[in-house]
Amino acid sequence: MSTVIPIRAEKSTGCTDVIPLIERGQREVFCGLTGIIWLHRKIQDAFFLVVGSRTCAHLIQSAAGVMIFAEPRFGTAIIDERDLAGLADVHDELDRVVNQLLNRRPDIKMLFLVGSCPSEVIKLDLSRAAERLNQIHHPDVRVLNYSGSGIETTFTQGEDACLAALVPALPKADASAPKQLMVVGTLADVVEDQMRSLLEKMGISLCFFPPRKSHDLPAVGANTRFLLAQPFLADTAKALQDRQAQYLPAPFPLGLEGTTAWLQEAASEFGVSPQVFEQVTAGPRQRTEKALAVHRQMLQGKSIFFFPDSQLEIPLARFLHREMNMQLVEVGTPYLHRQHMAKELAWLPAGTRISEGQDVDLQLDRCLKDKPDMVVCGLGLANPLEAQGITTKWAIELVFTPIQGYEQAADLAGLFSRPLKRREKLAA
Ligand code: SF4
Repeated sequence: MSTVIPIRAEKSTGCTDVIPLIERGQREVFCGLTGIIWLHRKIQDAFFLVVGSRTCAHLIQSAAGVMIFAEPRFGTAIIDERDLAGLADVHDELDRVVNQLLNRRPDIKMLFLVGSCPSEVIKLDLSRAAERLNQIHHPDVRVLNYSGSGIETTFTQGEDACLAALVPALPKADASAPKQLMVVGTLADVVEDQMRSLLEKMGISLCFFPPRKSHDLPAVGANTRFLLAQPFLADTAKALQDRQAQYLPAPFPLGLEGTTAWLQEAASEFGVSPQVFEQVTAGPRQRTEKALAVHRQMLQGKSIFFFPDSQLEIPLARFLHREMNMQLVEVGTPYLHRQHMAKELAWLPAGTRISEGQDVDLQLDRCLKDKPDMVVCGLGLANPLEAQGITTKWAIELVFTPIQGYEQAADLAGLFSRPLKRREKLAA
């Protein structure tokens, strides 16, 4: 079924066949523990117990801030010198900590043991620990494990590892169950509510993964069709496909075009008529177009350089180029997943410099030579670049802020236009 939607017709296949500049050097990224910050807010009765060092505890504590009015839902079991020297049985220690935690906190219904660099270095088998603890605490508490280590990973992979670990726990959907849409990836509740409302108005039955409560795990099976809401979920997607769910290839729901095409993919799969699609999306599309116009004035013609960090870089570059008329200098991504990025790549202008992986010194040289108006990068690079007179945007902010969907498109554009406006004011 074809539907008329305001997406520009393509004359070329953009960057579909791009050969990226592949770099494998020093990287400047956060580790996967960072994902706990948004995951613990989403799954409201889960607890994330990092099995790591004091460094891991500091990272997570300073990134998430202290929860003053609520009981914390993440913590660190510190591996100390005695454990590292093999003088203590780490498994016994871990069992003791977990028992203590669960006795004190009956509100915890799902416990993630989160691996770290230190736990991987001492080869602590957390899957064995999770299995053992599950035998003791299930069904009151489900115990799972995943790795948030920073060894060869980037910070959004923590969510991918967490969700992939959760997929085997999803109930099996009845073979006779009607087709259902699963939206995969952590979204702010406000975004989730808007997407639910739009899709339900089209008559599509849907669920979200991860759920807000651990007892609401959605069923999965051959009748499940899933859309990715985040571009960094390669392992989760594969785990769902292994459970017979079918992936719907779509661009990501960033900006007016991305959101429309993302919804359109679901609408086509579920046989929604063009009239119904138009009826449901016309109002939000008009509002979004109007709201984006304000930011376009500030952003158009400006150049932007992406360092590889969040894995959101390619969809963001597509939005900023196609909807905000920005010039792409370099689009760096930690990993290029060609299948999940196929529609996004086709929408990037042919000839865009795409880099995969990082060699930070070489990339900084290129960036300083190119002198872009704006750079998207990790926190460690932002200050030195600002000192060189380049406006920066922290990549991590784009993961913490609700940016998906129609109503958030202008907020997304604002994240880029505001720093440029500020620099202009300071220069005036
Ligand atoms: S997991 Fe590794 S990279 Fe992350 S805070 Fe701990 S030691 Fe550092």
